[in-house]
Amino acid sequence: MEKLSRSLVEVLSYLQDLGYQDLSASVLADHPSDAAAPERSRARPAAPSPPLPTSPDAPERALRLAEVAKEASGCTQCRLSKTRRHVVFGSGSPDADLMFIGEGPGAEEDRQGLPFVGPAGELLTKIIEAIGLTREEVYIANIVKCRPPQNRDPHEDEAAACRSFLERQVEFVRPRVIVALGRVAAQNLLDSKAPLGRLRGNWHSFKGVPVRATYHPAALLRNASWKRPTWEDMQVVRDRLRE
Ligand code: URA
Repeated sequence: MEKLSRSLVEVLSYLQDLGYQDLSASVLADHPSDAAAPERSRARPAAPSPPLPTSPDAPERALRLAEVAKEASGCTQCRLSKTRRHVVFGSGSPDADLMFIGEGPGAEEDRQGLPFVGPAGELLTKIIEAIGLTREEVYIANIVKCRPPQNRDPHEDEAAACRSFLERQVEFVRPRVIVALGRVAAQNLLDSKAPLGRLRGNWHSFKGVPVRATYHPAALLRNASWKRPTWEDMQVVRDRLRE
């Protein structure tokens, strides 16, 4: 019960961040230390989850994914391989219903070899938890698997060189919904030049999987007014997963 109400506090504090100021006064009042130190409490990693139920062919798909990850780890198909420290292939459940796709690793991701582990990653974790999931239950990947220098946008040929890795990730995970994080991810995934404002708000498709585009968590850190529309996008995604 204590654990449940603590995670409720975390979700409510995230919703407050998104602009829903009136939601949680009474719950937060029961947890004065969480309310007083929101940064510390929100940065806390999710408690370890119990083993997740998996579909019968999940081990096979996990194996196939691991083979693709191994292939990617030695990839030298584009110039990004020359400056990377680690290939950041992806993380999460090979059996995930929900897959997030970002644009490419940043400095911290390049150091650790894992996607979304820097400041934008902390916010992504809160977004995932706000729809009742954990990072372990979803799958997280990027358009390009190696860090573009100075975090510039990936070039077209770099995204093209990584395309088959991404396609096989989607094929093997077979998520029910994909969320494209930000303009670069959405445009690349959907092969479109339309601005994010036009790609948001509709369902698209990638290899037959429904895709929703929303703001990149790094953009939310720069512009808090995009948090509320992001939360609205995520509610649509959550409802679709409940169907
Ligand atoms: N931004 C991304 O698009 N991907 C990451 O993995 C980290 C930051």
